[in-house]
Amino acid sequence: KLELSNRVQAIKPSPTLAVTARAAKLKAEGNDIIGLGAGEPDFDTPQHIKDAAITAINNGFTKYTAVGGTPSLKQAVIAKFKRDNGLDYTAKQVLVSCGGKQSFFNLAQALINPGDEVIIPAPYWVSYPDIVILAGGVPVIVEAGISQGFKITPAQLQAAITPRTKLVVINSPSNPSGAVYSLEELAALGAVLRAYPNIIIATDDMYEHIRLQDSKFDNILNACPDLYDRTMVLNGVSKAYAMTGWRIGYCAGPEKLITAMENVQSQSTSNPTSISQVAAEAALNGDQNCIVPMIAAFRERHEFVVAELNKIDGLQCIYAGGAFYAFPDASKAIARLHAAGKISATTDIALSEYLLEKAGVAVVPGSAFGSEGYIRLSFATSMANLEAALSRLQTWMA
Ligand code: PLP
Repeated sequence: KLELSNRVQAIKPSPTLAVTARAAKLKAEGNDIIGLGAGEPDFDTPQHIKDAAITAINNGFTKYTAVGGTPSLKQAVIAKFKRDNGLDYTAKQVLVSCGGKQSFFNLAQALINPGDEVIIPAPYWVSYPDIVILAGGVPVIVEAGISQGFKITPAQLQAAITPRTKLVVINSPSNPSGAVYSLEELAALGAVLRAYPNIIIATDDMYEHIRLQDSKFDNILNACPDLYDRTMVLNGVSKAYAMTGWRIGYCAGPEKLITAMENVQSQSTSNPTSISQVAAEAALNGDQNCIVPMIAAFRERHEFVVAELNKIDGLQCIYAGGAFYAFPDASKAIARLHAAGKISATTDIALSEYLLEKAGVAVVPGSAFGSEGYIRLSFATSMANLEAALSRLQTWMA
């Protein structure tokens, strides 16, 4: 009898990838499905980035590289952190990995002992808790609903800290809520953490460039430079440059921790793909104007989607600061549709199944992100798709 490890039995496959796969299957079977589940830009990777990769292939740059990234990509990462974030790092403080997901995976493996607690604000990116569990850690979920703009308060953070707290995760702009912490809010969280010198801070800045309002981007180190020695800054090219398939993420932080994470990586994937590293270097060093039309499109869609969602009885959606998701509170609509006998249970999963089957619109239930009663709609798809999807939702949720 095949017995799987306890470790793997404690985790579940990524629910967002599962929704995307289910929608793709229904579509392949001939159903008219509009997928709003995907967490990736619908744009093509900019041409100069592709050209750099093609040149790399033709030049034979197709062998192993240094485990933690090529020296020239590390220099591009260092320059990026200086240019965009005002942060100074040396090459030994930088690690390039196979996507932002591997960066966080390496961090968890290098840092967490069995029973160590990791504070994760909800709604959260689906992978944080499972990656923590795989490392033997205990996710401590701090809930921040729509009434607090999906942001945890200093008092909530304080209340969640115990002697076993090892790591605190901050993700701004947030997937799935789009919430962005202001410099003042980050300073207030930092003020709590200052009293606990053994707690490490992870700031996941993956959506740094996907900003839907005109405010400047700041992470906790901009608010609290004194936390530099215990903060890991995680970022990547996936969302900013429409490069999800290239699998390049990078991070910077304390040298001792980076070295440990590099050791983990050396025994799992080795280096990230040589060709993708050249592409990422072109993305970071190249003309940043390639991002501008993508952001303009995301902003237009965001305005449209939020306004149309709020026309539906029982949905409440607030404007996001960044990323490309709408995360409406659907609890009143769920109760209403259940009372009317349209959905089988008062859960966001029942609502999502109803929307997929009746309206042909794939959304992700909020419970996948730790927030029951919400749904996530990605607007990384065309306006035509969004217009059709929102009109269907208005019909089927009426
Ligand atoms: N961090 C956040 C908040 C994300 O939403 C994602 C992707 O969905 C990642 C990290 C990982 O990105 P990737 O591994 O595709 O680079």
